Amino acid sequence: MKPRSFNRVEIDTGALQANFQSIQQTVGQQVRIMAVVKSDAYGHGLVECAQAIYRAGGRTFGVAEVWEGAALRRAGLQGEIVVLLGGDSESYGEIIKYSLTPVVFDIDFITGLSHEAVRKNTEVGVHLKVDVGMGRLGVLPHQVESHVSLLKRLPGISLSGVLSHFPAADETGAVGTTQEQLALFRNVVTQLNIKEAEAVVAHIANSAGLINFPGSHLDMVRPGISLYGYYPDASPARAQASAPALHLQPVMGFKTRVLQIKELDAGCGISYGHTFVTRRKSRIAVLPVGYADGYLRKLSNRAEVLIDGRRAPVCGRVCMNATMVDITDLPRVLVGDEVVLLGRQGDENITADEIAGWLESISYEVLCLFGSFNERVYV
Ligand SMILES: *Cc1c(COP(=O)(O)O)cnc(C)c1O
Repeated sequence: MKPRSFNRVEIDTGALQANFQSIQQTVGQQVRIMAVVKSDAYGHGLVECAQAIYRAGGRTFGVAEVWEGAALRRAGLQGEIVVLLGGDSESYGEIIKYSLTPVVFDIDFITGLSHEAVRKNTEVGVHLKVDVGMGRLGVLPHQVESHVSLLKRLPGISLSGVLSHFPAADETGAVGTTQEQLALFRNVVTQLNIKEAEAVVAHIANSAGLINFPGSHLDMVRPGISLYGYYPDASPARAQASAPALHLQPVMGFKTRVLQIKELDAGCGISYGHTFVTRRKSRIAVLPVGYADGYLRKLSNRAEVLIDGRRAPVCGRVCMNATMVDITDLPRVLVGDEVVLLGRQGDENITADEIAGWLESISYEVLCLFGSFNERVYV
């Protein structure tokens, strides 16, 4: 028997598939989609999500590290798996064994992989990463030519893609910068004239790029957060204006239930440090969820949860395994009732963007957090 917690994360694979299809409609059938399923599919489950996307027509997947790609192949996933962080000299064997496509940016790695591929009598496709202003991974534009000519010279290795990444495609104040970076990347691609010569796939757009910059779609787009139902800049209104065909639904929900209800007089301190003191005769519900479940201590006296289809505020500090909420205004609540921490209940809805606001973070982090700390159920 699998352990069962009071708390569970629900993953709506139908919503995931609908998001994938909506993205495909937005970019058009001629543009490929690399479904980014790195980091356990942003907390939604690597294998389950990749398989659901495959069933919806996805054939290219992006993971961060080689082991994630190996896990997908061991689970039987077909299609192309691009390893966004590339590998090291210890991963040549797995890259070849599991037919992974590493992103490359380092001469020694490229040379070593070529040797190993020749030794195993095979050929490995790689995507060259170019840094056009992200200030992260990739070779600089002036180094591209030498890397490409090396890749063309070396046996056992072939250039099947060129990619870059936007640092600020979600920021309205940086439109000019993003356009310059796109122009620089397009230049790199055309100057080398590699596209016609060898069917090299050029890609740069993350979710923000694909929504805000239709000119950045190129041969392939790489959505992550939008697959999971969120807009990168937390502003669906703006996204809807630039990509009217795009309709996203949140894929993750996080639920617990009421463990105890207590009736307290005015003047009672709640939880460690008594940072909350009842001001009236109160009903307080104890929830069996806390920072050990990813419901972070910063949510103390800030967050709200849904019970009986309405909002109830968190009162006092969030503990390791317990959180108290004020249900004085919700007289119908009973022990055992479902509590929604993330998601919809009745007409109310708490989004990862709202929780991110309480945490001074972003939806991406909220999803990774809840998903990685809790039992997941696929619905
Ligand atoms: C994570 C990642 C993405 C996806 O970004 P989103 O903002 O989640 O759409 C795309 N490309 C690369 C290289 C990434 O690391």
